[in-house]
Amino acid sequence: MLGLRYYVCEACDAVHADVGEPTACGRCGDGAFVDVSATVRGDDYFTRGLSRNS
Ligand SMILES: [Zn+2]
Repeated sequence: MLGLRYYVCEACDAVHADVGEPTACGRCGDGAFVDVSATVRGDDYFTRGLSRNS
């Protein structure tokens, strides 16, 4: 395991999985990310079933 972390682009909500914070969004080119690794529990996150139950 490489210890992937997950980052959501603040501008367009694209999710990036990488070992470190990306320098720029691959979709919109923005550079502001939120680390959501703690809330990601697997690939089901990518179904966009985000809830605010935390
Ligand atoms: Zn973006």
